[in-house]
Amino acid sequence: MAIPAENVGSLPRPMRLQEAYAAYDAGEIDREQLVAEQDAACHDSIERMEATGQRIVSDGEQRASSFATYPLTETLGGTGLADNLAPDGQFFAIFDDGHHRQLPRLKSGPFRYRTYAAEFVEQAVAMATKPVKQAVIAPSMLMLLYPLEGEVPGYPREQFLSDLCDETEKDIRQAFAAGASRVSIDFTEGRLANKNDARNPWTGRDMLQEFIDLNNRVLDRFTADERADIGLHTCPGGDLDSVHSAEVPYELLLSKMFQINAGYFLIQCASERDREKVYELCGKYSRADANGVGQVCFMGVIDPLNPTVETPEQVRDELTTAARHIPVERLGATDDCGFSPFSIDEKPKHGSPDFARDIAFAKIAARVEGAAMASQQLGI
Ligand SMILES: [Zn+2]
Repeated sequence: MAIPAENVGSLPRPMRLQEAYAAYDAGEIDREQLVAEQDAACHDSIERMEATGQRIVSDGEQRASSFATYPLTETLGGTGLADNLAPDGQFFAIFDDGHHRQLPRLKSGPFRYRTYAAEFVEQAVAMATKPVKQAVIAPSMLMLLYPLEGEVPGYPREQFLSDLCDETEKDIRQAFAAGASRVSIDFTEGRLANKNDARNPWTGRDMLQEFIDLNNRVLDRFTADERADIGLHTCPGGDLDSVHSAEVPYELLLSKMFQINAGYFLIQCASERDREKVYELCGKYSRADANGVGQVCFMGVIDPLNPTVETPEQVRDELTTAARHIPVERLGATDDCGFSPFSIDEKPKHGSPDFARDIAFAKIAARVEGAAMASQQLGI
């Protein structure tokens, strides 16, 4: 079987849609007008992703406030934030360029999603002629909604974690029920968990194992067959063309991440200095049998933060190098991250989100072509 190719999930929202989000937050347009812009952006995303030749497509998360907050709030500006959340939660990340993104804070129980990803899937499936994938957020990110210290009145941490696992499971199951062929879980907090950033207290609390265990608490509710189509994405962040944890030694994460019983992994690698070392680590730690499923390593061969489009030949060469360390039947090709995990993103290194969209589709097409060339070279 040829080397499979899959994107992580997001695409830059067109400038027009980003302006519509701002107008919606300001009360200048109604929900129907916002949805019309989202529909147009999803349609364009799916059509252009299908044109890249990739066998599986996504709506580019055009309807999501962000990869992490779509279950909680309609917009990043806070319109439609669930009643039992306050906007002033923990930083989920502080990026290298100095900007940060903040999570809401849970004020009271019970914790429930406002929006499940299945809503997006249903509409994407109706627009697509190819199979659709959906990204969902990991329980390990949303556990940070609960204050690090102390207890939410009347809602003990363990009750919260139990509700959170139920909601995450439901999110995945409903996405499949709505027609998704694959569901990948965004796990950007994995590498950040070893950052020890004094400005961001949770990154100094050695939470990686806790994160892994919580993700397995959800994944272990799925059969091996189901988990073959449930993936996990790791990266050092990607927002406003900046990262949050690229300097954290990758082995700290990679030596543990494959304990997670997912069937496949979407692994940032293109922006690493020593990529062969990453292939080697993935070959070493990924498991041929993770409770009944072989873990497929989709290696990042495209850097979504860099406007220079990789050539298919570069992609081919990376994948043939990767194949020296990872069994080809467990090797795939992906991008280092979503192209715009947050709905409001100027893509500063690209100059504009609209140009960044053009670049994103060119990059996906190069990845697809490069994966086909590598497959041919490897004789598979
Ligand atoms: Zn990412």
